[in-house]
Amino acid sequence: MDVLQKQDKDIFDAIAGEVRRQTETLELIASENFASRAVMEACGSVMTNKYAEGYPGKRYYGGCEFVDIAENLARERAKELFRCEYVNVQPHSGSSANMGVLFAVLKPGDRIMGLDLSHGGHLTHGSKVNFSGQFFEAHTYGVDKETGRIDMNKVEEMALEVRPKLIICGASAYSQGFDFKAFREVADKVGAFLMADIAHPAGLIASGLLNDPMPHCHFVTTTTHKTLRGPRGGMIMMGQDFENPLGIAVKTKKGIRTKMMSEVIDAEIMPGIQGGPLMHIIAAKAVAFGEVLQPEFREYALQVCRNAAVMADRFMSLGYHIVSGGTKNHLMLIDLRNKNVTGKVAENLLHEAGITVNKNMVPFDDRSPFVTSGIRIGTPAMTTRGMTESHAESIVGLIDRVIGSASSDDIEKVCAEVREDINTMCAGLPLNDFGPTP
Ligand SMILES: *Cc1c(COP(=O)(O)O)cnc(C)c1O
Repeated sequence: MDVLQKQDKDIFDAIAGEVRRQTETLELIASENFASRAVMEACGSVMTNKYAEGYPGKRYYGGCEFVDIAENLARERAKELFRCEYVNVQPHSGSSANMGVLFAVLKPGDRIMGLDLSHGGHLTHGSKVNFSGQFFEAHTYGVDKETGRIDMNKVEEMALEVRPKLIICGASAYSQGFDFKAFREVADKVGAFLMADIAHPAGLIASGLLNDPMPHCHFVTTTTHKTLRGPRGGMIMMGQDFENPLGIAVKTKKGIRTKMMSEVIDAEIMPGIQGGPLMHIIAAKAVAFGEVLQPEFREYALQVCRNAAVMADRFMSLGYHIVSGGTKNHLMLIDLRNKNVTGKVAENLLHEAGITVNKNMVPFDDRSPFVTSGIRIGTPAMTTRGMTESHAESIVGLIDRVIGSASSDDIEKVCAEVREDINTMCAGLPLNDFGPTP
């Protein structure tokens, strides 16, 4: 980055600071990961210069022969990874992918059902502060107060009452799997579309470690930068394309026919909600999918889950309350109410100690989203760094030291000591081909 350093020292210094931060501290934010050097090289490539509105072979701009190669490879690899018939790799983010599906199949005011934000759902699943709750009549289901898990009987009950046009399953802070088959049965009972949002566990699903949504859901959306470990972005998939039951007949050269859903989704992404695709990011998506197709990625995904399981067990043995009673995936949500510390305080103290987590609402939380009663912890990034079960155990010990000392006079000293240990642990595991080594 010597050109940037000469030309714009302020930005260079900010990036250098971020490199140091990522290198020296422990990343436990469940939605983050370290993209590989190859992925970042594609992100930083000249494909950022290219306008390519449209789709491969059908662009509104000339000179698309090379970006077409990149987008076709991204599509083919995604189809192979997720065993699906259709994919659109152009959504700029997970939120845009969801917007694409919602706007494609719903009209303003239509009813939708999704997991409540404070129970682990995502903003785009019907939150009032998001387009999904503003354009549509959103009803949210929650987890059971006792078990912390989704109760399919309650989901069915609510669906029969609400009669939604679209049901969304998937979450940002839910450590159990989803029963996509049961969701589909509910959706079929009320004539709703079913969309799975696998933004978080996509890499684990691609590796066959969790239930596969593809055979059961009309639409599957994801991000590409969480457990998939690619560039920041989104995509939309369908296990099988189908005739659009909303039945818009179109005239073609071969006569009048009903549009396929793939055509409806493609048209909703562009020109519906986006203009030109980010071709450098799409090229990087192809590179990342190529990595996920390698056998080593499955080993990585298995280690992500093993690390999370070890951490959850260790936390519980230290008296922490893990919502839903454990984890089947890469994350856990810790309810800190019995530890007399808020999510906000825990996040700040851990930050002082060199550990990055995010505060998170817990189900039935009585604190605001700015304070919260919990923290969310995930293992994708630490596992990319090469950490295994023994690191996972030590990390829980360090987190417990900080949280256990939250209201003691020694807290500053404890944070400084933990920070030393974290720095040493990280220094022993440089990021090599992954992450921010300059
Ligand atoms: C992260 C996430 C998204 C949104 O992704 P962005 O790229 O941040 O827009 C959507 N849905 C779920 C469930 C997520 O966890």
